[in-house]
Amino acid sequence: MAPETSFERYRPLLHAELGRTGASLAALDADSRSVSAARDNSNVDDEHDPEGTTIASELSQVAVLARDAQRRSDEIRAALERLDGGSFGVCAVCGQAIAEGRLDARPWTPYCIDHVSGR
Ligand SMILES: [Zn+2]
Repeated sequence: MAPETSFERYRPLLHAELGRTGASLAALDADSRSVSAARDNSNVDDEHDPEGTTIASELSQVAVLARDAQRRSDEIRAALERLDGGSFGVCAVCGQAIAEGRLDARPWTPYCIDHVSGR
């Protein structure tokens, strides 16, 4: 039995998720461009015009979503590197095996259920 190869089945899942994340990043980027264009065209005063405030808050919501998508994308790339390096499926904190059910749900996670941090 070779434990490092048993995780190979997560590779297509990680690539699929990376593709989805990339697509949503592209969509968010397009959103932020169109909202910015709307702001530029409407010539509103961000600080004093109520519509300007709405546009600013839309832009910041898009920015938050884009940050999340970017972070997920980084996590997936890191997971793929661990898959290549043979450290996939092991908690980055305690070194114990990450439960398979958890990997099935979040194959990019570097933490066991006891050490979920930053998410
Ligand atoms: Zn742990």
